[in-house]
Order: sequence, then structure tokens, then C-alpha cells
Amino acid sequence: MEEVVFTSNEIGQPLLQWYDRNSRSLSWRPSPSPYATLVAEFMLQQTQAATVEPYYHRFLSRFPTLEILAGASEAEVCSVWAGLGYYSRARAIWRLARMVVERYEGQIPSNPALLRELPGVGSYTAGAIASIAFGVREPAVDGNVTRVIARLFQIAGNPHKSVRVRNQIRETARRILPERRVSDFNQALMDLGATICLPIRPRCGECPLTTHCRANMNGNPAQYPERLGSPSIVEQTHVCAMIRRENGDLLLCQRPNSGWWASMWEMPRAVCREGEGVYEAAVRAGIEVVGMRLTPGEVIANIRHTVTHHRIQLYAVAAFGEGDPAPVGCRQIKWAHPDQFTELAISSPQRRALKVAGLWTSPE
Ligand code: SF4
Repeated sequence: MEEVVFTSNEIGQPLLQWYDRNSRSLSWRPSPSPYATLVAEFMLQQTQAATVEPYYHRFLSRFPTLEILAGASEAEVCSVWAGLGYYSRARAIWRLARMVVERYEGQIPSNPALLRELPGVGSYTAGAIASIAFGVREPAVDGNVTRVIARLFQIAGNPHKSVRVRNQIRETARRILPERRVSDFNQALMDLGATICLPIRPRCGECPLTTHCRANMNGNPAQYPERLGSPSIVEQTHVCAMIRRENGDLLLCQRPNSGWWASMWEMPRAVCREGEGVYEAAVRAGIEVVGMRLTPGEVIANIRHTVTHHRIQLYAVAAFGEGDPAPVGCRQIKWAHPDQFTELAISSPQRRALKVAGLWTSPE
């Protein structure tokens, strides 16, 4: 394939003009301090911008500076992150804050190589922070930008599978960076991918780069980049036991520190085995997680939840327990009154179950 060479100006000028008129209005854009950019970029790693907005504000109002974040506990950070999912990001940003305080006296570095040494920071996040917060000439190649570049330059191959293709896209993104307005340029590419250069039906008629786009000129933009087949959906049934004391306290257990909902609090839960009923699974959750013999009662809540390509049906079942609980299949257990729930990092589906049960009274 003959290589297409554009100067950064040829791409940059129409793209930035389009951006000036059409940029998305996002809370973190008007004052991109390094810390605010860092928080936004961590939240955006696996979540769409519109979903991130309220969590971004809540996080910054609770942890307004990197030093305050570094001084908080991991559990506190996870509880403020609760609801956004992918909690490994919450733990990583907390570790990052502590590392930046220790290594750099609280100043987030602008050098992409130093940024990449920090927890939870890969090439994209390093490029985004360096270019947006510091104006460093560094590409920020996320999924949207990958798609735009692959189409503009008709880059063959699957970037999910091939390091060579990923490098080619990244180096192309670097080559077209303009001398000035690097932050706007990178964000313009992201916005173009999010709003115009859509995965299935790109709106090429509205695109400022339509006359530069090789895939558009050849009439086949949706074929780029080559895609992986979607993973098949896995259906699962989870059952959790609502075990309460007479004073209203609920038995919660802290999950192991890896896997889904790592280190978060939840009611003892089991994943139904093939052919296993809801009540049998509740009994098993009691034995395997908190070492209790349970008598399950009625189903209090029935929640649908999706994690990656898993569709989960969660049943919360009232249960009466014999004997004292012990942390058998979890890190620790505690009896918590509903007034304390908001202070704990409780997994999103279980918070929803608690809401249905009338035990979660906070608006969030
Ligand atoms: S012309 Fe179409 S395919 Fe090419 S970058 Fe624009 S929207 Fe994407």
C-alpha cells in the first residue's frame, strides 16, 4: 500500500477549525490542571464521558488535591469511586498519588516516560496527561483515535492483535501532531472519533477531514480498523444472602484483593453452578464465604448487571444464620448498620439490591 503523507498543517488546520466550533463540553476541559486531567483520564479509561461527569465532580470535591488523595485510605478512595466500576483504577490512582508525593514532592511529572512508570498509566494516559495538562508534543491514542488514524491513512491489520499495527498507528499520530495547540489537536481527534468517525456508520459528510481520508475516498471506511469478533455473552446467576441481626445490622464481607469487585464489600455471594437453584446457592454462600449454616427466606431483590461480556442476574435472598460468622472465603467480615453503608466501598450491583430492599437510603 502506497504511504499517504500529509503535513501536520494539512490535517491540523481543518481539524482544529472544526474543534473550535464543535468540541464537546466536558467539565475537565476548561481548567486542565495536571491533577484534574489525571482524575478525568483515569475515569475515562473504560467509561464514557457522559457517565464520568458526576463521578468526576464527586471525586474532586472529596479529594480536591493530589496530597489529600494520597493521605486518604484505599477503602475511602474505593468508596468514593463506587458505582463507576473497574475499581482497579481507583486503587491505581491512590497508589499513584502516594508515589508522586514520595518521588516528585506532589508534582505530577510532564515527561511521558516518567508518567508511564506510575501505577495505572499506559501510553494513552501518559500522552493525554502530557499533552493536555502540559502541552507536551505527545500523541494520545485511545480507541477513538486509533479508528480515525486507521481510516485516514488506511492502515491495514488488527491493532488489537498486532503490536506492529499499534506502533504504526501511534507513530502516524505522532507524525501529524502540529507544532502548536497539541492539547486541542489530540482532543479534537478524540472528539472526531466519538461523534463523527463512528465505528459502524461514520458520518463522513460532516467530517472536516473528508478530502484527506483515504478510506473515505475508497468508499470503505467501516472496514478500518480490522476488528476482533465480539466475545460471546456469558449469562450468570449470582445469589447473595441478606443476613441481619435484630438491631438491623447486615453481615458484609470484603472480597479478595483480585478479580471482580476486588477488596469491595458485599453480602456473602455465590455464583450458581449448573442446575443449582437460588436457595441452594444461598446456603452455599453462607458456608463457603462466612462459615454459617443458613436458612434462606424470600427473594428481596432481583438485579440485572453487566460486567465486560458477562450478564449477571443477582438475587438477594433474606437468610437466617446459625452460629457466629467467620471470614472463610473472604478477607474479613463485619456487621454494618445501613447508616454506615455509604462509607463502605460496596459493589454496584449489591448497592442496587440494597436500594431495592430499602436499606440504602443515601441518594447515591
Ligand atoms: S472521512 Fe469518514 S472515515 Fe474518514 S476520518 Fe472522517 S468520518 Fe472518519
